[in-house]
Amino acid sequence: MSERSNSKPSIRTTIAQAGHFIDRETGAVIPAIQPSTTFARKKDYSLVGDYIYSRNGSPTVAHAEGLLCELEEGFETRLFASGMGAASALVETVDSGQRIAAPTIMYHGVKSWMLRQQAMRDVGLDLFDAADPASLARAIIPGKTAIIWIETPANPTWDVIDIKAAADAAHAAGAILVVDSTCAPPVISKPLTLGADIVFHSATKYLNGHSDVTAGVLTAREASPRWESLKQAQVGLGATLGSFEAYLLIRGLRTLFLRVEQASRNALALAKHFEKHPKLAGVLYPGLESHAQHKIAKKQMTGGFGGMLSILVKGDEAQTRRVTGRLKVFTPATSLGGVESLAEHRKSVEGPHSIVPENLIRFSIGIEDVADLIADLEQALAEV
Ligand SMILES: *Cc1c(COP(=O)(O)O)cnc(C)c1O
Repeated sequence: MSERSNSKPSIRTTIAQAGHFIDRETGAVIPAIQPSTTFARKKDYSLVGDYIYSRNGSPTVAHAEGLLCELEEGFETRLFASGMGAASALVETVDSGQRIAAPTIMYHGVKSWMLRQQAMRDVGLDLFDAADPASLARAIIPGKTAIIWIETPANPTWDVIDIKAAADAAHAAGAILVVDSTCAPPVISKPLTLGADIVFHSATKYLNGHSDVTAGVLTAREASPRWESLKQAQVGLGATLGSFEAYLLIRGLRTLFLRVEQASRNALALAKHFEKHPKLAGVLYPGLESHAQHKIAKKQMTGGFGGMLSILVKGDEAQTRRVTGRLKVFTPATSLGGVESLAEHRKSVEGPHSIVPENLIRFSIGIEDVADLIADLEQALAEV
């Protein structure tokens, strides 16, 4: 065994080793699943360990939270039963009469939930155009706006928002900036280091990476009354992650760097191949120089541009859906961030109120041989 240096290992090493875990009693190198829902007390009724009851926190979940907190360079991390569990708990911390600013184009589930809060308990929602910084500035109402929520790159057009500029605008108005960084996992982008107050991920996606766990995560840059309120909301809503899911998430996290880097390489190669394809009206990918916010993407996405891209087919809705129907290597399915490539006609999934163009197909690029992915899309487009 080689001598370990005294300096702190890089995050790549820490994550590959799940925190250099060695079980003190057994020597096991993999953290065990601790399924207990309750934790014993001593004779004087003080706790044996750090835990009381699993809805408030438990060892396997805490292990995963510790790894995620290091990845984000944050102050504290909480895992939730899903991304929506995390987002709804955060929205719960906004008082009636206060407001949220959020982009018009964003993950539709979060936007629907915010609209429902507006209708049911007067938490105002001010929408802005993610591609236009002036629009973001107009959406902020000083003294009223509590949270500015951004998603970058944003589903499913992959608009990129300048995180540092958004953080400055939020702080100038006494608001906090929350970044949905699901499509730019910490291998690529660390919003807290750019001034964001809280970073959100659907851990169902890249963080777990194998399409077999539903989980959400929030990490705070520093302690705050809102963060304390958020933790109370989580326990009250019961939006806690289970130990088995936490164990799978730890296993998935160990290969995060390899998976995200390979997916990014594949996506860039595919985007470049199809950028000027005669059957396409466009390829939307932040890594392309033709992307409207490529400069910002280059500045804040330092480990690649991610695995998410969309194509615009020269054709109508029916022709576009036929392309997804002809794919053989890609699986037509929703979700993203797994090792396998998926294709989705996004408008069909979001329903009649969707503002997504009818000719848009969203791809989650996996870690397969990119030549197979390119050939598959070529054959599917041949008959448009
Ligand atoms: C999937 C997703 C969510 C919601 O997360 P769930 O784990 O499905 O609840 C939120 N934001 C983005 C960008 C997503 O892709």
